[in-house]
Amino acid sequence: MTKPKKSVAVNETCIGCQLCVSMCPRVFEMNGSKSVIKKDAPMDDDMIDDAIESCPVYAISAEELDDDASAEEDSDDYQMAA
Ligand code: SF4
Repeated sequence: MTKPKKSVAVNETCIGCQLCVSMCPRVFEMNGSKSVIKKDAPMDDDMIDDAIESCPVYAISAEELDDDASAEEDSDDYQMAA
């Protein structure tokens, strides 16, 4: 089973401590005094969650992307016969 894809973002509260960059350099890089997400960063990197948890100001957020919208559970309709 493949891991769900993520959308990761760094918000303006980043204080530029570079912790996420050192923990997960495939995904984060510094842009001036703030961390940003690298272009074409591998969003399945296991270290993303660790970087999110380690950020001292909780500036990193991630959202799982459901790239298979058809993966709904069986939804049988229960209809009463008239
Ligand atoms: S760990 Fe948080 S505060 Fe530090 S550079 Fe990364 S996003 Fe910014």
